[in-house]
Amino acid sequence: MKKATQLQIKEHNRTLVLRTIYNSEPVSRSAIAKRTLLTKTTVSEVVADLIEEGFTNEIGHGPSSGGPRPVLLGFRPEARTLLGVDLANDEFRGSLMDLRGKILASEAIPINNPDGDTALEKVYALIDKLKTHESSPLLGIGIGSPGLINASEGIVRNAVNLDWTDLPLVQLLEQRYQIPVYIANDTQVAAMAEYSFGDHVNIENLAVIKIGIGLSGGFIINGKLFHGDGHGAGEIGHIVVAENGPRCRCGNAGCLETVVSSQALLNHFTAYADRHPEYLEILHVKQAGDIRIRHLYQACLNDDPVIADFMKNASHYLSISISHLVGILNIETVVLAGMLSKFFAPYLEDIAEEVRQRSLSALSSKTRIVLSTLGEDIVTRGAGSLVLKNELELV
Ligand SMILES: [Zn+2]
Repeated sequence: MKKATQLQIKEHNRTLVLRTIYNSEPVSRSAIAKRTLLTKTTVSEVVADLIEEGFTNEIGHGPSSGGPRPVLLGFRPEARTLLGVDLANDEFRGSLMDLRGKILASEAIPINNPDGDTALEKVYALIDKLKTHESSPLLGIGIGSPGLINASEGIVRNAVNLDWTDLPLVQLLEQRYQIPVYIANDTQVAAMAEYSFGDHVNIENLAVIKIGIGLSGGFIINGKLFHGDGHGAGEIGHIVVAENGPRCRCGNAGCLETVVSSQALLNHFTAYADRHPEYLEILHVKQAGDIRIRHLYQACLNDDPVIADFMKNASHYLSISISHLVGILNIETVVLAGMLSKFFAPYLEDIAEEVRQRSLSALSSKTRIVLSTLGEDIVTRGAGSLVLKNELELV
């Protein structure tokens, strides 16, 4: 029993010292002792272990404060590699990253409405491919998956697009690769990416709304990813906001994602172009069925008034949902991510203003609505950060 306790203390001290170096490098041993309240002897012992494991090294000397100049320690992001996978797109994507989330190599495998077994084979193929780029020991694999995920048991409860029901993905991957594997829903993983590697590092409360084919939210609350009781936290895309709105894939009508998503945009403009064939010329397409998001984005950049009308309506409904989030959680920073988020660039201040009108001013006066700067890698990098968090407790 005593031995176990000593081991736990040793682990705890190691985490404290490693985290201090990660967050405050370059830093001296005595500065670490001051910040962690550990004795200098303990810090020196832990640092010796960390140097041996490759996580830190001596990188020079700091200024003297009377005595000899202190030796400074740096963090070595290349000490281990993180592997992150994004299964929430029309292709599977994955990246190898260093411990600061810098991408070292990326791979993608196209998928076309796969059955469950094929989808799983493609996950293996993607990871096998990525592993050929490994330059330092792999710390673990992180997965951002669409659908309902039981993160603690590592099970994909239901991912319709991948034809998976109750798939023990973590167990399968751990057996195959013999390293730790972590999984969460792709939007929850995107929130981890913002918290770990985005413009909002270590902001204790953060809402990330990912707007792509569908719409969902991921929440960091008190510095931790919030999963909810049934692991479905953040399914705000299926809250009804538009009375008598369009039919939703969930069976309901007027859900937020029926008015704010790339699918909503495509549905709207395919129908619009059918009624107004002259609009096809503006989009530079031959027929309504050829319209893609990129055509609409170009029109958006050209200040096309029809797109502007759609976006104003979408911004209105998004504001309603964000005002609820602000009212319930008092979160000040709301990050828009995903394929459609760039369409909202001209409307961010309008959304913030409507949120202020719709909620208690004491809560919403500080609300910031911003766009993610992590781009297409947001889920793969977030998946990497799941590993970093669980294995080294660095984020
Ligand atoms: Zn719905």
